[in-house]
Amino acid sequence: MSCSRRSFIRGIGGAILVTYPVHRFLAGTLSRQTIVIDNVRYGMLHDETRCIGCKACVVACHNINNVPAGVTRVDIVDNGTWQDQGKTQKQFARKSCQHCDNPPCVEVCPTGASYKDAKTGIVDVDANRCVGCRYCLAACPYHVRFIHPVTKTADKCNFCRDTNLAKGRLPACVAVCPTKALTFGNLDDPDSEIAKAIAGRTVYRSKIHLGTAPKLYHIPGKFGEIPQ
Ligand code: SF4
Ligand code: SF4
Ligand code: SF4
Repeated sequence: MSCSRRSFIRGIGGAILVTYPVHRFLAGTLSRQTIVIDNVRYGMLHDETRCIGCKACVVACHNINNVPAGVTRVDIVDNGTWQDQGKTQKQFARKSCQHCDNPPCVEVCPTGASYKDAKTGIVDVDANRCVGCRYCLAACPYHVRFIHPVTKTADKCNFCRDTNLAKGRLPACVAVCPTKALTFGNLDDPDSEIAKAIAGRTVYRSKIHLGTAPKLYHIPGKFGEIPQ
């Protein structure tokens, strides 16, 4: 793509954000992509009962994936403190790309830069095709995308697809977690660690009513309302 077209689309990004029918996708009236996946559908499980909020995952992600300061592919949100039978309890939630099976960020991308990898189910960004228009940032109901300050293209968690995963290692955040709060693997393999962990526990996924079919699962740190 020429520089002039790239600049142009960046320039009109604000107008596109207003006019693009994202709401039609979320309402289920836009066609959703149909992708045949080769028996691998990667997902992640965050066990909030194990998470201690140390943010080692955030640091590891920055280091391995060369994420600049000021932006992040993953965050740990402090959901508060309460007393339970004389003990102080805390709950931390993971905020990162959900690798949706029906990703609105992919639907709205005008250049094909945002895509779902057919072999793994990973939602990724081709920086060479991204024009930085921010459609995908607006379309993502989980608010986990950002514009990379150096490349000026959209960025987010890609399950370390081009770093650790490419070397046959676990994603950096999973590998570094000191309490083993994160599990990564193939959701479609009933013998995988993640499939077994999900099958045996009560889990939740965020905003499933939107039809995005997120592949980030959580084991709840506490049932019911968290006291403020
Ligand atoms: S969480 Fe957001 S960025 Fe990730 S796949 Fe879903 S819509 Fe796209
Ligand atoms: S990836 Fe996002 S910012 Fe880049 S061209 Fe596609 S919609 Fe625009
Ligand atoms: S899977 Fe990789 S890219 Fe995603 S949050 Fe973890 S370390 Fe970062």
